[in-house]
Amino acid sequence: MLSVDQAIAAILQEVEPRPMVEVSLAEARGLVLAVDVASDVDSPPFDKSQMDGFAVRAEDTLHVPATLQVIEEVTAGSVPERVVVPGQASRIMTGAPMPEGADTVVPIEQCDFQEGANCVTVQSSSEPGACIVQQGTSMAKGETVLVAGTQLSAASMGLLAELGQARVSVLPRPTVGILATGDELVPVDVSPGPGQIRNSNQTMLVAQVAQAGADTRPLGIARDEREHLKALIAQGLECDILCLSGGVSAGKLDLVPSELVAAGVRQVFHKVNMKPGKPVWYGRLDAERSPDGRPRWIFGLPGNPVSSMVCFELFVRTALRKLMGITPADPQPVKARLESAHTTRGDRPTYLPANLQWTDTCACVRPANWQGSFDLRATANANAMILFPAGDRKFAAGEQVDVIPW
Ligand code: AMP
Ligand code: MG
Repeated sequence: MLSVDQAIAAILQEVEPRPMVEVSLAEARGLVLAVDVASDVDSPPFDKSQMDGFAVRAEDTLHVPATLQVIEEVTAGSVPERVVVPGQASRIMTGAPMPEGADTVVPIEQCDFQEGANCVTVQSSSEPGACIVQQGTSMAKGETVLVAGTQLSAASMGLLAELGQARVSVLPRPTVGILATGDELVPVDVSPGPGQIRNSNQTMLVAQVAQAGADTRPLGIARDEREHLKALIAQGLECDILCLSGGVSAGKLDLVPSELVAAGVRQVFHKVNMKPGKPVWYGRLDAERSPDGRPRWIFGLPGNPVSSMVCFELFVRTALRKLMGITPADPQPVKARLESAHTTRGDRPTYLPANLQWTDTCACVRPANWQGSFDLRATANANAMILFPAGDRKFAAGEQVDVIPW
């Protein structure tokens, strides 16, 4: 049986990003830039005032108080028309271009000025360049300011907007199909009858996909019956990634692996040495077998909600990140202080849902008090999972453990 690390390595090897596409800037949030972007402007594009005040010649402020003649008012968006000569000042607002002749700005708080008056008394001396930001300080026209591979944050999107990049070349946002399987499942808005439960995995997995920055396609519930499953798998294979939940263990009605193989999907692995989530299945629809010549990646997640959740975070998220060009793609554990003692047993590493908090002094993690992989209630406040290595061992409160944030 593969270890988690081997399974992740197999996923990284089998997933390759799609060719780049051009999208509107608004659609690019969270996507990875596919090309370097150079500035088409100097920023700022002109020497500009950083304060509301008076643009003056620094030499006129050597001896204060100094009364100067106000010759013009320059607001942001306007262009100064008058040259400031000795003994003069122009009223200037934040963001407005500096008038010729002036080399400093005295903030209005350091001046005596009556609104509408034609002179101002400057109360403090000002160095040349004070309260001015020079043209091109932040970037010069032609300079590369964002490189291919950058994942677009709010700030980098703001920068692209400053550069006038209304359309950008990015790696495309993947679509992920979510297909729950199981005769016992009913939709969320239906009261379960005898032997039935609600399809909680679809809602949860759709939310996980959205958090990972991809688009989802919920495909409903497949009955544990070959024809129905086959039809919904065919729909799901239109997506870049298809996640099924349930039907991958050794039960009589666990039809998912064989139906995926029948649909042309090549199994890469089945079963990983971990707790929860051992039955997880992963395969690839190779380009040659895919109707549009593009590969697809398929995950059979175990049906128990927490198993599905954990396997998504370890495996599907890694595939999504690789597909989206985000590096590193694989989960990055952080160290945290264990807040309550925990005992592990057995020969499989455990991925235990937990709550991770940063305090003034440390990252602290509290294991969920869960009863098993069906226990979503205990998992509801989890935002991370603790990785406990295989083996029988008592971990004391205060020990450092590896944690993978969700
Ligand atoms: P399976 O992997 O199909 O054997 O399912 C394992 C357990 O997970 C069973 O108790 C199922 O009833 C439960 N289960 C399967 N699919 C879902 C789902 N979509 N939502 C909630 N529980 C599920
Ligand atoms: Mg089932």
